[in-house]
Amino acid sequence: IPEEFKRALPILNTLKDAGYEAYFVGGSVRDTLLGLPIHDVDIATSAYPEEVKQIFNKTVDTGIEHGTVMVLDHGEGYEITTFRTESTYQDYRRPEKVEFVRSLQEDLKRRDLTINALAMDAAGEIIDLFDGLTDLKMKVIRAVGDPNERFNEDALRMMRAVRFGSQLDFKMDSETFMAIKKNAHLLEKIAIERIHVEWVKLLLGKNPNQGIKEFLETNLYKYSPKFENKLSELKDIATMSHLIIPDEYVAWTFISYKLGYVTSNESGKLMKEWKLSNELIKHVQTALKCVEKIKRQNLQIDDYYQAGLSPLKTANIVAKLLGFGIDDALLESQYNALPIKDKAELKINGGILIKKLNIKPGPQLGKILKELEKEVVQGNLKNNEGNLIKKAQDLVSTDN
Ligand code: ATP
Ligand code: MG
Repeated sequence: IPEEFKRALPILNTLKDAGYEAYFVGGSVRDTLLGLPIHDVDIATSAYPEEVKQIFNKTVDTGIEHGTVMVLDHGEGYEITTFRTESTYQDYRRPEKVEFVRSLQEDLKRRDLTINALAMDAAGEIIDLFDGLTDLKMKVIRAVGDPNERFNEDALRMMRAVRFGSQLDFKMDSETFMAIKKNAHLLEKIAIERIHVEWVKLLLGKNPNQGIKEFLETNLYKYSPKFENKLSELKDIATMSHLIIPDEYVAWTFISYKLGYVTSNESGKLMKEWKLSNELIKHVQTALKCVEKIKRQNLQIDDYYQAGLSPLKTANIVAKLLGFGIDDALLESQYNALPIKDKAELKINGGILIKKLNIKPGPQLGKILKELEKEVVQGNLKNNEGNLIKKAQDLVSTDN
């Protein structure tokens, strides 16, 4: 039993002493059995939310309408969820309302995949009602029960199945695969934000090639924004060797580039449809410009300065995936060699110029500041006030 479970054992035992059932469930059980690190310990119990709140002193209602109460114990929070069913599905989505039940079996039955439907009790015994252990051992992704029914209840499960296949490098059971193919169109019912989570986890997985291949073969791609006309481009990605995607910035820069959404306008449209954050969109657009310049071996000092180190690194990782990356150490040393990294480091500003040069605020001032910044970045002008003022005076006199 891993440390994380040991630390949570008193919670299980407290529930048991109060006369309820309690188990570790979901991802943490799966990952423990696979020898992978676990992020969050989820606990399922027969106690109703109100009962959980009576048993523990410190609780927070994190998702009480879904049956989840957070119990605080020695500075840690544990999500305790009442056994529940999701009997009334609406419009191919997980229901807003859930029904609390007293039976573990009912709870496990509504879970998505057999490997995610395992429970572990306080003694470390595994409760395996759907042959999840065999699937873990054989590395198989299989829906719990009738896959067709399960994907009709909640269409996101199709993306989850493909995602876990990539993440864990598991093969998909053929019945599950066929059911996804049959129901792929239901993905249209699912909020793009939820699809996005699974898509990025798929790309960042152990075997993204397989994940993308399944995403294509099941037709899920047809119901994902701005992918429907990109079959051959996506196929090409699926057959790339050494495809390892470290983070979502790289993921979106790489995908935008490969799908031909390279200009800021095009990539912006793609990423807005996927409802990505403005911060991510900006980073990716900057990185895309750098990818092009790296490709043309035309990355200039000003590009380093304008882009900043983080998008540059993203761009170079993508360039390497595409076979034309440059040396990381070189990239970093070029960046570090910049005389200034940011406009704020300039030893002059509009206020000083107005005073010393006796000019008015306005476009001329802006132009002069831009020019000074450029000269400093290029290394043509030392960044000290005296120098900068002198240069500014020259600019004013040639201007007039
Ligand atoms: P991760 O490592 O990505 O967190 P996880 O298995 O913990 O993987 P979660 O999304 O945190 O995934 O969900 C926790 C558990 O809830 C899952 O293991 C699964 O049993 C169940 N579950 C999650 N989403 C669904 C769904 N859409 N349909 C059915 N069961 C689900
Ligand atoms: Mg989880």
